[in-house]
Amino acid sequence: MTHSFSPRPAGGSARGWSYYSALSNCELQWFLKYLYRSKEAPPKSTGMEARFTPRHLLVGSLFHIGAETWYRSSWDGSQDTGAYNLDPAIDAIHTLATEREAEWSSPNERLDDIALASSLMTHYGQRFGPNGPEQDYPNYRVFNFNGLPAVELELGIDLEMATGGEVFTSKLDVILMDNNGVLWGMEHKTSAARRVHSQLQKFNMDGQVTGQYTNLLSHFPSHQIGGVIINIVVKDAAKTKPSFHRRIYTRTEPQIQQFLDSVRIKSARINQIKDGLTKTPDQWDTALTILDCTPNAERCYGMGKCDFFEICLDREVGRRILDTSFIPRVRVDGPTAV
Ligand code: SF4
Repeated sequence: MTHSFSPRPAGGSARGWSYYSALSNCELQWFLKYLYRSKEAPPKSTGMEARFTPRHLLVGSLFHIGAETWYRSSWDGSQDTGAYNLDPAIDAIHTLATEREAEWSSPNERLDDIALASSLMTHYGQRFGPNGPEQDYPNYRVFNFNGLPAVELELGIDLEMATGGEVFTSKLDVILMDNNGVLWGMEHKTSAARRVHSQLQKFNMDGQVTGQYTNLLSHFPSHQIGGVIINIVVKDAAKTKPSFHRRIYTRTEPQIQQFLDSVRIKSARINQIKDGLTKTPDQWDTALTILDCTPNAERCYGMGKCDFFEICLDREVGRRILDTSFIPRVRVDGPTAV
């Protein structure tokens, strides 16, 4: 395996598990989310997304930017000092909520979500920050990656396929180093209390974690890799009894090989689809012909209601709905060096 390093701004991983796993669930879902372009779409876009973002995702994004800023706040230019600061984290939550204002369907909901994310962040800082009962520092410090804090770092693995250029990427919310020099990836999640148990179970098998663990092993061979820490913040309890769950996940070598083989199979299918679509002028009609996309309850509702559900209720008119009720996704380029 060869590697790529590419620090990038907040957002989803460019060619990460979401990208590949969407293809397994439904090829049309993958096509609409990552490839489809309407005639009016700006050049730097690919795929479509719903005009309004579900609130649980918005709260998650607000907490994420707060936590990202929190883990950067103690960096003195060359190392983690442990002097984490809540003020810039709360400011970052407000700034992001302003930038993404159009994604809320009501101003009051937006204000409620800012308050919730700020409360979660404050409780988090009190728990894991300076003088907190479970403070990260000095046992865990933000890892120094080429002189920068390893926060929101995107790592990539060359899949080494004959067609060339295929990469699997993973973004780590933060990479921590413990007192023994062992590295730990950390992934922040916000969750409803009733879903915590199933979430923790899910990560035993989850491809996102497998990808992150694989990328850590691949990129930092001179360090021992402790695992990926899933860092769950329970939303419902924010104002009363805050609740946090951290669990460590690792993978075996056979699991990693099986995972990479699976990603290569998906990548090959993506190349095949792209090839088929470029041969015809009307991507929509061709997509419905060549993609595996027969609606069924498990596929369309099993992971929560698919964003494109209304389009598939009546595909005759679905394309019009797509062009009017969805907006183009701004392209996220892959790692700069592989
Ligand atoms: S609604 Fe169902 S068939 Fe349509 S894109 Fe979504 S998962 Fe695929």
